[in-house]
Amino acid sequence: MITTRNHSLTGVSTMSELNLQMDPHRRYNPLTGEWVLVSPRRTDRPWQGQIEETPLLAEPEFDPQCYLCPGNTRASGDRNPHYTGTFVFDNDFAALRPDTPEASFNEAGLLVADTEPGVCRVVCFSPRHDLTVSRMSIEQIRLVVNAWVAQFEDLGAKSFINWVQIFENRGALMGASNPHPHGQIWANSSPPNESRKEDAAQREYYAAHQSCLLCDYLALELKSRERVVSENEGFYALVPFWAVWPFETMLVSKQHATGLDGLNELEKTALADILKRVTAGYDSLFQVSFPYTMGFHQRPTDGGTHPEWHLHAHFYPPLLRSATIRKFMVGYEMLGMPQRDITAEAAASKLREVMY
Ligand SMILES: [Zn+2]
Ligand SMILES: [Zn+2]
Ligand SMILES: [Zn+2]
Repeated sequence: MITTRNHSLTGVSTMSELNLQMDPHRRYNPLTGEWVLVSPRRTDRPWQGQIEETPLLAEPEFDPQCYLCPGNTRASGDRNPHYTGTFVFDNDFAALRPDTPEASFNEAGLLVADTEPGVCRVVCFSPRHDLTVSRMSIEQIRLVVNAWVAQFEDLGAKSFINWVQIFENRGALMGASNPHPHGQIWANSSPPNESRKEDAAQREYYAAHQSCLLCDYLALELKSRERVVSENEGFYALVPFWAVWPFETMLVSKQHATGLDGLNELEKTALADILKRVTAGYDSLFQVSFPYTMGFHQRPTDGGTHPEWHLHAHFYPPLLRSATIRKFMVGYEMLGMPQRDITAEAAASKLREVMY
C-alpha cells in the first residue's frame, strides 16, 4: 500500500492511502534518484497553446540531395557506398574527436573543465530514404540491431571509451535534420550525466540488496501488468511508474543482460520485433509518423563486468494529446521538476490499444 503523511495541527502524523489516479503526487525514479510531479485530472483544461504543423510525409525512396542516401556525396566530400542494409560512418561534424589531447582547467574548483576525447558515428538504418523503423520489416530492423551490437563492441573495446551512447532522434519535432532513417552513436571517455545517475543508483541498489534494480522492478511490474504495454520472448515494453513524457516507454530485456552484446540470437530478433511493435503502435496512436528520442542504456565500457547494470532502452516522445499538441518542458519543469497530467497507468492503457 502506498501511503502519504498528513500532518495535523497537533503534530501527530496520520497516514492515508494515496490514490494514484486522483491525488496530485510526486513519483520517485529509482534509476536516477529524481522525482516527477503527477497531476491527474488536469488534462480537461482548455488548450490555447501551440499547435504543431503535421506535414504529411511523402518522401521519395531516394533523394539525390540527401547526404545519407546510397551513392550520394556528403559535405566532407566522401561518397556513400551503394549500401543495401545498414551503413555506419564517422560523423562529418563530430562533437567529439578521438585525437583530443588530455588537458584540464581549474580555477578555485568553480571554473572547471576537462578535454573530452570520443567518437561520433552515424548509423543509416536502411538505404530507403522514405522508411521509418515502424515501417521496416523485422528482418531489416534486425540488421540495425546487429550494427548496434557491433558498434557497442568496437567502440567499447577502445581504451579511451568508457560510455557508448546509441540513440535515434526521430522527426523534426525532436530536431532530426534529415528524414532518412538513421541514428547516432556518441562514445566518450567520461560517462555523461544520465548514465552517471543510473550507474550510481544501480550500484547502490545492488550493494544493498545483492540483486539487480531493474530485475526487481520488472518483477513488481509483472504483478499488476498495469503499465506493461507489449511483450515478446525477449523483451517487455512498459510505461515506467516514474515516466515524465506523456507516452514515454521503456524496453527492458527479460533476461538479465548488461549490454546488447549479452543478447543471444533469439533475443536480438526479439529486440527488432519489440522495436517494430512500439514504433508502429506510436504511429497509430495519433495517426502520425510519431516523433521521439530513443536510446539504449547499457553497462559502462571501462573493462568492469558491472553485474548491477541491466540493458534497457528509453523512448521519449513529445506528443501529448494529438498529432498537433506537444508537451513542453518549461517553467516549473526547468526550475523545479518535471510534471505530467496523464498518469503512467492511463498512458499505458491507451498504448495497449495500439501496441500488440
Ligand atoms: Zn536519404
Ligand atoms: Zn537485471
Ligand atoms: Zn536508463
